[in-house]
Amino acid sequence: MKPSSPPRSGRPGSPPPGRGGKPGQRPEKHGQRPEKLRPDRTSPELGPDGTPQVMLLRRGSDRWLAGPPWIYRADLNGDPGLQGGEVVRVVDGRGWFLGKAFYSKLSKISLRWLTNDDVPVDADFFRQRLQSAESLRKLALPGETTYRLVHGEADGLPGLVVDRYGDYLSVQFLVPAMEQRKALIADLLEELFHPKGIVNRSDVSVRHLEGLTPEKGLLRGALPPGPVSFDEGLVRMRADLLEGQKTGAFLDQRENHVMAAQYAFGEALDCFSYVGGFALQLATRAKHVTAVEISDSASAQLRDNAQSNKLSNLEVVTANAFDFLRDAVDEGKRYDTIVIDPPSFAKNKDAIPAAVRGYKELNLRAFQLLRPGGILVTASCTYHVDEQAFEEMLASAAADAKRRVQIIERRGAGRDHPVLLNLRETRYLKCFVLRML
Ligand code: SAH
Repeated sequence: MKPSSPPRSGRPGSPPPGRGGKPGQRPEKHGQRPEKLRPDRTSPELGPDGTPQVMLLRRGSDRWLAGPPWIYRADLNGDPGLQGGEVVRVVDGRGWFLGKAFYSKLSKISLRWLTNDDVPVDADFFRQRLQSAESLRKLALPGETTYRLVHGEADGLPGLVVDRYGDYLSVQFLVPAMEQRKALIADLLEELFHPKGIVNRSDVSVRHLEGLTPEKGLLRGALPPGPVSFDEGLVRMRADLLEGQKTGAFLDQRENHVMAAQYAFGEALDCFSYVGGFALQLATRAKHVTAVEISDSASAQLRDNAQSNKLSNLEVVTANAFDFLRDAVDEGKRYDTIVIDPPSFAKNKDAIPAAVRGYKELNLRAFQLLRPGGILVTASCTYHVDEQAFEEMLASAAADAKRRVQIIERRGAGRDHPVLLNLRETRYLKCFVLRML
């Protein structure tokens, strides 16, 4: 912001408050005393260790102390005069240290929590966070070699995603601070995990919100000679780390894929199949599976995957799932097992009502198509539609279909995608197992 911009209160700019608060002093109640607003800065204020300092408004301090690891721009006391991508000291209105965070200049999310301690955020810091992330995966998924190794803020590494596919890593840098530490992170990944190659899959549009352009390519080592293979239960899957969706596969659904096999029987339908994460599982148990996928290349890979798994009871239909479901209802078709796992329908809050209408249409059709005793595995990866909204949508779809439905399981992403208490956004994936009465 321009140095001449007026203070937001409309009052003349007040001087920055000093470290006036006495230890043990009772916190001020909201609305008791007007807050001292600081003018926007042209150069950063430095803390005692030389780290730039960002002061929060009272609302921001309250939010920080309550736990959410993101602080929005409106909760900063003035523009801190930074470039973006810095590690900053976060202080309250009295100048007291709250913790350290990554700073973003362009995103609405200005600060992302790193630590409550006044410690250096250096190679050792990131090494420890990476080791901690790995130890969760070893604990929760012993013996596994394909999993999400780092799940961003939920692993205390904001803006960093690392997926492990055996000997290869596929990574995403989503905020400027991580982007600027790309070489350090790659060094640490090589030191700790000795991958044959690290693929950068930062070709995601959310980077635009941070002023970063999407990019992808080989970051370190060698590319895998072809798609990498990995097991999901009884099924052998393949992922193309450079060209596949996301980092190559939908690892968040791995445990749900295997779970779906357990429930599958009879005539089965998988909508939004991609390369067959659910469809192949269903085919290990059901009599016949129809997989519906709109993309030609994903459909072709799905056919290959079915063949290499010797699953001849799987038929791939390249079509729009909305049309397929409507036609199936009109034709009076019936199924025993259905999976609905569409892409995200809402990228922002304004799109929520349309997303909910989309989900409702899909699930209403699924209820109409299921035989009594039939199973519906239904998922949503739209984080703006939370679990409660998703469940309400399902209830309303069941009512419109005039069906009674049991909830058998309420699931989320796999255990390698931890959810951070206080950051609902990390619980983006909902996956319900329902049974028709
Ligand atoms: N179920 C998959 C992941 C699905 S991702 C798994 O567990 O691995 C969503 C998929 O839906 C993508 O492959 C995308 O190409 C496909 N898709 C998007 N819109 C579609 C539509 N209208 N009809 C059918 N498929 C669609």
